Amino acid sequence: MMRCLCVFATPIRPKWIDKRKDKENSLSSFKTPVNKFLERKKESFLESLNTPPVGTPVRSPFVKDFKKKRTELTAKLFAMFNKTVFESKIPDNLEILWNKRMTKTAGYCVYTKRKFSSVREVRIELSEKVCDSAERLRDTLIHEMCHAACWLIHGVNDGHGRFWKYWACKANVAHPEIPMVKRCHSYEIHTKFKYQCQQCKAIVGRHSKSLDVTKKCCGLCRGRFVLLPTGKGKEGKKQQPNKFAMFVKENYASIKKSNDRFKHADVMRVLGQEFARKATIAGD
Ligand SMILES: [Zn+2]
Ligand SMILES: [Zn+2]
Repeated sequence: MMRCLCVFATPIRPKWIDKRKDKENSLSSFKTPVNKFLERKKESFLESLNTPPVGTPVRSPFVKDFKKKRTELTAKLFAMFNKTVFESKIPDNLEILWNKRMTKTAGYCVYTKRKFSSVREVRIELSEKVCDSAERLRDTLIHEMCHAACWLIHGVNDGHGRFWKYWACKANVAHPEIPMVKRCHSYEIHTKFKYQCQQCKAIVGRHSKSLDVTKKCCGLCRGRFVLLPTGKGKEGKKQQPNKFAMFVKENYASIKKSNDRFKHADVMRVLGQEFARKATIAGD
């Protein structure tokens, strides 16, 4: 059994896609100059799965009721992608499971090959915790289906190599309205509980109160963790680690130079201590 772990990234849309859209729009506006202003651009099904900005109404039932409807949505997306991207070459009954335990990766493929036979099978597993919205499901599923296609159609598991890229590219061409299928996604994982290091202010997330603060300390500076009040960790997360990151950026090289036997972890430990000391002096 082989596994591909796909850590997923906020997708970046290449400029050429936007440019091409502009071109298309300007061409169609030639044909129907009046309608251009009357007609609102029709949203495709895939686009309707985007999480709308805060404060705007949610129209898609799959976005609104994602948890209840995710199995239905998975089947719908699978059938659609199989047709539009994979030439219907992936078997309809491909197993797709929702995994409760996966917390770090959005999805992965489990490849199997029966002994003494050439039958190759694959199962896609999706993380309940990371794939927690319709758009994440859409983007993760297509990424994993590219892996599945490599195994089932070409008989190779080449990671994100040329076979995988071939299918990813096909997906990008077929569906330019969704984020590019890329090698990695780094989704911010929405954890319910956040622990903050009292020394360097770094924050770690957990889905449950699983971190034993009496036994575990900060990996950066060995400081002690405290549980942050739920729902209020976000601001602290945005501000403090940035300060620490800047501090690291400014001082990493000099600390590393100060002792040539220092490894990365040693440098980070010293940085954490220094940062904490500075913060106390500054009363920050
Ligand atoms: Zn992958
Ligand atoms: Zn720390």
